[in-house]
Amino acid sequence: MKEEQTLHALEQEGNLRTLPEARHDGIWIWQDGQRMLNLSSNDYLGLASDAALQDEFWRSVPERDRLLSASSSRLLTGNFTAHRELEALLAGRFGRESALTFSSGYHANTGILPAVADAHTLILADKLVHASLIDGIRLSAAQSIRYRHQDYRQLRSLVEKHHAAFGRIIIVTESVFSMDGDVAPLAALAELKRMYPNVMLYVDEAHAIGVRGRHGLGIAEEQGCLREIDFLCGTFGKALASVGAYVVCSRLMRDYLVNRMRTLIFTTALPPLNVAWTRFVFERLDDWADRRVRLASIAGRVREAVRQAGSPCPSESHIVPLVVGESGKAMLKAAGMQRHGFYVLPVRPPTVPEGTSRLRLSLTASLPEAEVVRMGELIVRNE
Ligand SMILES: *Cc1c(COP(=O)(O)O)cnc(C)c1O
Repeated sequence: MKEEQTLHALEQEGNLRTLPEARHDGIWIWQDGQRMLNLSSNDYLGLASDAALQDEFWRSVPERDRLLSASSSRLLTGNFTAHRELEALLAGRFGRESALTFSSGYHANTGILPAVADAHTLILADKLVHASLIDGIRLSAAQSIRYRHQDYRQLRSLVEKHHAAFGRIIIVTESVFSMDGDVAPLAALAELKRMYPNVMLYVDEAHAIGVRGRHGLGIAEEQGCLREIDFLCGTFGKALASVGAYVVCSRLMRDYLVNRMRTLIFTTALPPLNVAWTRFVFERLDDWADRRVRLASIAGRVREAVRQAGSPCPSESHIVPLVVGESGKAMLKAAGMQRHGFYVLPVRPPTVPEGTSRLRLSLTASLPEAEVVRMGELIVRNE
């Protein structure tokens, strides 16, 4: 059978995937009787492992929101007060007309693009955008071109060349890139967009929301262009320690998405309890500037250690790749880190390009100081 052959080939290449079995204990992971520091989680602010915060939520959440299922789509009977309140909070904090929430970032990215992009649309997407964005592009009727990663000279010339031939161009990028941890110049992209009336900007802040910007609103806040991004998206599943995703956009676009976005219309809404938790967290985002500062400090030191070990380090964020090259080598290196008590996982093709297998250090504000020091030393020794 072809499936059997595929699995066999993956195993030969060192690319076979399985679901890891690990027990969680706050910032720690237990596996085979060993306790390791979790360096593979997206709990960037340490909120998912903050028991006191969760206790406060359980004490304060009103009866009205204690519902474990929405039991239908937002468009039928699944649209609860909790959903409306969260969207009003988001629109207010971002200073935009409106916001719309979804079941996940994957739903957002596979739903918005097919809804707004038609056959007269050209999508220009960074070569390294997340799989969910690639799937959204594929599901749309648009033509698309992937520009070289962060090559804005190429992007500018593509826009110049094609803007007259298409009804609309949508530039699609992440802000903090998931695999290299580098950061897109959103303000410059907004400037490019301003030069053409038919160019729109779609930005996925999955790894930046909560973490970057003075109030935790992401790179768009940090770079002062919150109002200029037509579709400003993010997930609640990472730093915000919850589940679901959002877009902030114009009221017109929101109304349109409610009518045309299949991954919103044809799926059960998130349970009010989860939505209430997201709102509880988002309301407090401003209070966690100390965690953002701590995370930035840890990340700076780990990036420095990677450079000292002789690895090129494109990262400008709390996502720090340690590029090893070949998949087998990355697996060995990950196993070595795990023996030292750091739960790091190898990232291999097809998630990253062939020959760039890596360890992906996903740092969080809750890492104990002594462990950060020990990790830095281990990386510099480069065993
Ligand atoms: C994690 C991630 C998503 C998916 O978000 P979920 O809410 O987990 O479905 C989308 N885009 C990017 C860039 C991501 O890193």
